[in-house]
Amino acid sequence: MENGIHYRTCHLCEAMCGVAVEVKGSRIAAIRGDEKDPLSRGHICPKAVALQDLHEDTERLRKPVRKTPTGWQEIEWDEAFKTVAEQLHTARSTHGRNSIGVYLGNPNVHNHGSLIATVPFLRAIGTQNRFSATSNDQLPHMLASLEMFGHQVLFPIPDIDNTDLFICIGGNPIASNGSLMTVPDFRGRLKALKQRGGKMIVVDPRRTETAKLAEEFHFVRPGTDAFLLMAMVNTLFADELVHAGPAEGLIKDLDLLRLASLPFTPEVVSKRTGISAETIRDLAHQLANTPKAALYTRMGTSTQTFGSIATWLAYCLNILTGKLDTVGGVMFTQPAIDLIALGAMSGQQGHFGKRHSRVKGLPEFAGEYPSSTMADEILTPGEGQVRAFVTVAGNPVLSSPNGRRLDEALSGLDFMVSVDYYINETTRHADIILPPTAALERSHYDIIFNMLAVRNVSKYSEALFDAGSDSRHDWQILLELAHRLEKLRKGGSLPIRSELGWRAFKQTGPDPIIDLLLRTGPYGADTGRARGVLEPATGVIMNLLPKHHPLRGLAKLSSLNPQWQELPKGLSLKRLKEHPNGIDLGALRPALPNRLFTRDGKIHLAPRRYLEDVERLHRQLSAPEPSDGLLLIGRRHVRSNNSWMHNSRRLVKGKDRCTLLINPHDANRLGLRAGSKAQINAADRQVILPVEVTEDMMPGVVSIPHGWGHDRDGTRQSTASAHAGASINDLLSDQDTDPVAGTSVLNGQPVTVKVWQPEQQRIPA
Ligand code: SF4
Repeated sequence: MENGIHYRTCHLCEAMCGVAVEVKGSRIAAIRGDEKDPLSRGHICPKAVALQDLHEDTERLRKPVRKTPTGWQEIEWDEAFKTVAEQLHTARSTHGRNSIGVYLGNPNVHNHGSLIATVPFLRAIGTQNRFSATSNDQLPHMLASLEMFGHQVLFPIPDIDNTDLFICIGGNPIASNGSLMTVPDFRGRLKALKQRGGKMIVVDPRRTETAKLAEEFHFVRPGTDAFLLMAMVNTLFADELVHAGPAEGLIKDLDLLRLASLPFTPEVVSKRTGISAETIRDLAHQLANTPKAALYTRMGTSTQTFGSIATWLAYCLNILTGKLDTVGGVMFTQPAIDLIALGAMSGQQGHFGKRHSRVKGLPEFAGEYPSSTMADEILTPGEGQVRAFVTVAGNPVLSSPNGRRLDEALSGLDFMVSVDYYINETTRHADIILPPTAALERSHYDIIFNMLAVRNVSKYSEALFDAGSDSRHDWQILLELAHRLEKLRKGGSLPIRSELGWRAFKQTGPDPIIDLLLRTGPYGADTGRARGVLEPATGVIMNLLPKHHPLRGLAKLSSLNPQWQELPKGLSLKRLKEHPNGIDLGALRPALPNRLFTRDGKIHLAPRRYLEDVERLHRQLSAPEPSDGLLLIGRRHVRSNNSWMHNSRRLVKGKDRCTLLINPHDANRLGLRAGSKAQINAADRQVILPVEVTEDMMPGVVSIPHGWGHDRDGTRQSTASAHAGASINDLLSDQDTDPVAGTSVLNGQPVTVKVWQPEQQRIPA
């Protein structure tokens, strides 16, 4: 790449900030915010410098490695591919296709090549034992979107640039710059909100960095958001504040929701939540009476025992108060690559509970089982036991509950391969590691996070550096393995047409697919032409299909297109290359009723699976309070996102961030002082951490950040190891899941805390 400034999108978190990277020779001289990026407008966070650290990290693998009795040994790509394909084929032919487990880590969704190549790769593996980070994160949101709007990734996004009231429960966008709300420079946008007379309310068990900027803040007991939100729904009905606005006429089962909320008055839930009845009523009234308001819930609310109900109710509250599809409320995006419409056209809106996991009977979601049951599937003998494992850009030992048990499970596999460029806490168990190119060595288009952004934009970034001929992109690795597995399955060779197809795919890569999707998408240069071809075909197909056939989603094409016609046109990959800062496609726009994908075209306010779980919520009202234990929650810091960022020297330097936060009252009671060490226990699991005493914690609640715990042997991330911390997932149980969605319970599990005595230290496994 030539010397000078190059523009691209930072892929490190969901915020999609535009960065201007100054290149001198083969080195990065500086990374700054791109003032001309239409979404981030010059903002970057401290993590952006990690782009350089990750790129230049000498511990990043450049060639495949194989584990030997004397350590890791570099091998050639062909040998690595051959061995991996043969081992996976052997597992499949000896023990069946479900004997292979696959875990996809969250960086995959920031990588268009990997996303596209994953489809044929998973088809070639053929296993039902698929896992990802979804069930440790946003699964309840996906389920609520599927159940209520008919599509698993149709998320209502807060229109933060126009709202006058932002209510944030269980989220910390000052640290995250949004999650399921791509909002770079949240701080700047919040300032603008306040300048136009608006306000922010935060509800959280910790006075977070976001809460400190709020006009109003309330502590809530972990795991009780569902009570709070149900009591807000109850208030809306009791005080006759239900006015669905744009959703009026589209909602169904309003009465069922009202009936479900009846027992949960503010007075009844007040003690449980730690929030007064008066405050709960006031929250509901403020939401209802502010025309431009948005209620946003995130990770703290979704990853708890009632995470599904809580997320469903948050969606309901926005709908009941007329905030859905309202400017300044919560709105649906119209991305340039519209996976939502594409999914609907092919009947792929998502599915849930079509089958259940072998050991615990947990439901699949979109073809994946909850990751909390990975260890069960590996350790439990019997037909379908996982014996070989594939991880792609993931570190579930640190990111899934009961990491030590998963450590044990992975160490006993017959074979494991990791597509990853680090030897980390998970990939150290692999027999072979296949390292892909680094992010700056490949092109970038954000397919996923444009679906979640607070403004419609589109941007393509070319590869900044050439990784050389002896390197492979993720998509090349996945396609090569898929191709070889298919050939082995067919006895060594494929029919010529199929063979040519594989070769063409491997030759062209994912960018022509991006171009096609842009051209035929809502802002595309060829949208009209695509419509001319597809609509007649749609009409023919519709007449052949039964009334409720999923392919009837194709009919949506006709109804979407009138809206598409009002949008700016001309988008293609070529046009994006001519605009390296990205192209602004405008603010979020009202989209009802065309953006609904339920079969009856309605918004389902009271899906059965939530109503059934309300019974459990009701029982919990009268359950005894946890006695002497403290409740554990996680937290996020602006200089961290995932565990793999901890090998960046600049991101881990300074004050130790992996600490136990505890309220002074609890610290005094337990004899803990700031800077001393605490032993935190849950059942037979324990970690030791330095203590920070702070009024920011709700009494009875302690907090540990996630992604740490780099104290395992056999990793090759020296910076991370020097700042090891402890993993919150070494404490959390993998037996606790939200029974509706199967999401891990990462917030609200009870722990005991005491002063650490050195002789009690457990030797890490
Ligand atoms: S907030 Fe930071 S890490 Fe996230 S995209 Fe922006 S610069 Fe990158």
